[in-house]
Amino acid sequence: MMQKDKYQYSVEIAGSCNLRCPSCPVGNMRDKKEERPTQLIESDLFYKIIDKIVEESINKNCFVSVFDWGEPTLHPELPKFISYINQKGLKSRISSNLNHEADFRSIIKSNPTEFQISISGFSSDIYSTTHARGNIFKVKSHMYKLRQYANQFKSNTEFHVCYHVYKHNFSEDFENMKKLSKELNFKFIPILAKLMPIEKNLAYIMNKKVDGNKSISQKNTINEEDKKLIDLLFVDPYEEYKNWKKQTASKRNNLTSYCTKREYKTPIRVDGSVGLCCAVYNTKLKVVNNFLDLPHNEIHELRKKNDYCGTCMEHGLHDNWKMKQSQFFYKNLLGNNFISKIQRKIFKKIV
Ligand code: SF4
Ligand code: SF4
Repeated sequence: MMQKDKYQYSVEIAGSCNLRCPSCPVGNMRDKKEERPTQLIESDLFYKIIDKIVEESINKNCFVSVFDWGEPTLHPELPKFISYINQKGLKSRISSNLNHEADFRSIIKSNPTEFQISISGFSSDIYSTTHARGNIFKVKSHMYKLRQYANQFKSNTEFHVCYHVYKHNFSEDFENMKKLSKELNFKFIPILAKLMPIEKNLAYIMNKKVDGNKSISQKNTINEEDKKLIDLLFVDPYEEYKNWKKQTASKRNNLTSYCTKREYKTPIRVDGSVGLCCAVYNTKLKVVNNFLDLPHNEIHELRKKNDYCGTCMEHGLHDNWKMKQSQFFYKNLLGNNFISKIQRKIFKKIV
C-alpha cells in the first residue's frame, strides 16, 4: 500500500547543465544528447503541470523538485516557478551546482522550501576533477550570497550542502567544507558518490559479467573516462551488485518487484514527457509523451509494466543505492564526531 505522504515529483525545468560531471549522464553520455530533450521548459507547460499535480492531490503538500539531469538556475523564470509551487501549498526544492551567475536575490526572495548545493570539494583541483568545468571560487561566493539574501529576506529555506564523497576528497576538503557549511548555518550532508545513470551501471555490470565475451554487445559502453571515475568511487557498481545478490539470495522474489523510485516519485522532463524514473537518462526510457494527457494511476500502471525495470531489478540497481552508505564503517567515516575525523585521517593514508 502506497504511503501518500511520501509521494513527490521532479519537474525538470532545464534539460541540461553548465557542468560536465563524469559521474552524471550530462557529462558521461554526451553522445546520447540528441536523444534527450535539453531545452528550458516552457512556462505555460510548467504551470499546467503544477496545476495537474494539485488537482490530482496524490500528496497535498508534497515536494516538487525542479531538477533531474539539469541545472535549474539556468532558467530565468525559476523565482516565479518557486513562488507558484509555494502558492499552491506544495513544497519547492532546488538543487544547484552554484556555478551560474543567476539572480540569486530573486531566487531566495521566492522562498524555496529547500535548496541543495551539489558539491565535491573545497579546493579548486579537487572540486573540478568531479565537478568538471566548475569553479569553486564562484561556488563559495554564491554560498555567501545565499546566506546574505536568506537573512535579508528572512526566508525559511533549508540549505543542504550535499557533499559527494570520493576517494580524492574525503579528508581536508571534507573538513573545510563542513566548517564553511557550519559558518553559513547550512546542513552538511555527505553522500557516497555513485556512477549515474542506471544505464551506465548496467553496462558496467554486464561487461564484467560476460568477462570479455564480445558477442554480447552493450548499447551503453564504459570508456576510459568512466573507468577513471569508477576508480575514485567507494562504491564499485559490480561489487555492489555481487553484494546485493549475496544478501538477497534467500528473499529475492519479494525484493525484486518493489522500487521506491517508481512507487514514490514521478519524473517529468522539460518536454512534458514522463520518464520511467528519475535515475535513467535515455529518452526512450519514458512512458508517456505528455504528463497532462493521462491521469496519475494510468501513468503509474505504465511505469509498472515497463520491461526495463525487470532488468534493473535483476541487478539490484533499484535497491542497492544506499547499501554501502548504511554500513557501519561508512556511517562512521562520514560521521560528525571526533572519532570519525580521526578515521578519515587514517583511512586517507590507506586509499
Ligand atoms: S552539476 Fe549536477 S546536473 Fe550538472 S553535470 Fe554535474 S551532476 Fe550533472
Ligand atoms: S526498477 Fe529501476 S528503472 Fe525501474 S523505476 Fe526502479 S530504479 Fe527506475
